[in-house]
Amino acid sequence: MGSPLNKDSKMECARHGLQKPSFICKHLQYGEGLGFYEATDDPDPEYPFREAWCGDCDKVLLEQAEWNDISEGNAQIMPICEGCLTEIQARNE
Ligand SMILES: [Zn+2]
Ligand SMILES: [Zn+2]
Repeated sequence: MGSPLNKDSKMECARHGLQKPSFICKHLQYGEGLGFYEATDDPDPEYPFREAWCGDCDKVLLEQAEWNDISEGNAQIMPICEGCLTEIQARNE
């Protein structure tokens, strides 16, 4: 998923300033009411980033039973700041 991250990684958001990065599927960015599914694995102290995807991606993920070329190709996970993620969550869930 792009550049290597460590637990202190930050990204600059034009609207929210310096923020912790998080990850969403490409559909959520501009979507509304698409559903909002978030990774529920135990938090990894070395990888404390939120990951979320839409209802369509969740369906593909369930069909595939894991993140693989098909489910990842559908989701096209992209980094986004945590402030933006909060707004996207409110718009899609
Ligand atoms: Zn999606
Ligand atoms: Zn932001």
